[in-house]
Amino acid sequence: MCLVDGDVSKLQMFRNIGFRQVKENETQLFYNSPNPAQVMNARLPILFITAISMLVFSLSANAFPKIPEEEGARNLEIFGKTFSTLEEWQTRAKRNRDGILKGAGLVPLPARSPLNAHSHSSKEMDGYSVENVHFESLPGFFVTGNLYRPLRKGGLSKFAGILCPHGHSKEGRVAEYTQARCASLARMGAIVFAYDMVGWNEDSNHVDHRKDKNVFAYQTWNSMRALDYLLSFREVDPSRIGVTGESGGGTQTFMLTALDPRVRAAAPVVMASAHFYGGCNCESGMPVHESKTHKTNNAEIAAMAAPRPLLLVSVGGDWTKNTPKVEFPYARRIYSLFGSSSNVDNFHLADEKHGYEFSKRKPVYRFLAKTLKLRLSQVTGDDDEITEKFFKPLPKEKLQVFNKEHPRPKHSLIGSEASLAALRKAQGKL
Ligand SMILES: [Zn+2]
Repeated sequence: MCLVDGDVSKLQMFRNIGFRQVKENETQLFYNSPNPAQVMNARLPILFITAISMLVFSLSANAFPKIPEEEGARNLEIFGKTFSTLEEWQTRAKRNRDGILKGAGLVPLPARSPLNAHSHSSKEMDGYSVENVHFESLPGFFVTGNLYRPLRKGGLSKFAGILCPHGHSKEGRVAEYTQARCASLARMGAIVFAYDMVGWNEDSNHVDHRKDKNVFAYQTWNSMRALDYLLSFREVDPSRIGVTGESGGGTQTFMLTALDPRVRAAAPVVMASAHFYGGCNCESGMPVHESKTHKTNNAEIAAMAAPRPLLLVSVGGDWTKNTPKVEFPYARRIYSLFGSSSNVDNFHLADEKHGYEFSKRKPVYRFLAKTLKLRLSQVTGDDDEITEKFFKPLPKEKLQVFNKEHPRPKHSLIGSEASLAALRKAQGKL
């Protein structure tokens, strides 16, 4: 779930609670004390909190504007007029790539320091295993997550590698629907890494996800280092690397794919929109969409995957609702310049809302099975329909990276200042 939507729903929930409280208080106050001044006094904290919430919401809405849908479509038309040949598109794509990296403060890229990867608590499941992992994307800056591996080799000498970033849901990496996706892909023959958003839970706590201004840079760098981590396994085939995530994880999916040619197939889910770039610092908090030298949007950034296989999963119930007629045709035109129109597709669920439920996972399983040579038969029943009936979610505690038995290393960085200093030092800027 995107933060803006989350904020809206939280605010709505908050307002609803507020209304309920007012009603309950009114009843109770009327019963206990009908004095109007006391009624007003009881309401004041609620009114104050509601006013503050509305102010915060309006500030965040201004910070992360959602442009009109028509303007998003018009921007794509304007972008589309700047190229008509493959060479012109490649020049534009390079300018965008440079602009994104510069806007994120990732020029030059940090040095690739030793990952110092550690894993523990491997659990054998039905056709796959899960272990808890940490490694350092920068000295002292930890990427935390779970590694899912296929248990059966079945004649395979190498496995595909797939990254699974998550969106802004409360449970994040350990949400059941994220576990189900990773488990299924591992069963199908991929080594899968699900990793935390930066500062999203107790495992990843270097910075405050909501407040840190550089969280987009950390997450993008963490994704690149997560690829380094996957590729450090001898069993992973570098020609079969994929990434898929939803919402904020969709942003990470298409940003990484646009910036890192090692990704060979991408499936951003419910995120690649021409009129909304996500409502969090980790999506639109840095000037990556526009500078003096470039102007782009998420629809175009997703299309920068071309000519590598790309599946856009969209729904009627969020900002991807226009994908079949706006974002997808734009991407297809770019793919056609490469002579690879069949490498891009759109799976649109007109009646569905934001999320990464089973109905959205199924087309992604088919897409990744086809593009990364996975065995779909590992997740299909006798009727050839995809099923996750083998899957059993694990409790959060079993997926936790740092705990009493496995404490956080002492050199783990604390706070925005220390984290930014590590990033700049790794770039040779300090
Ligand atoms: Zn975020």
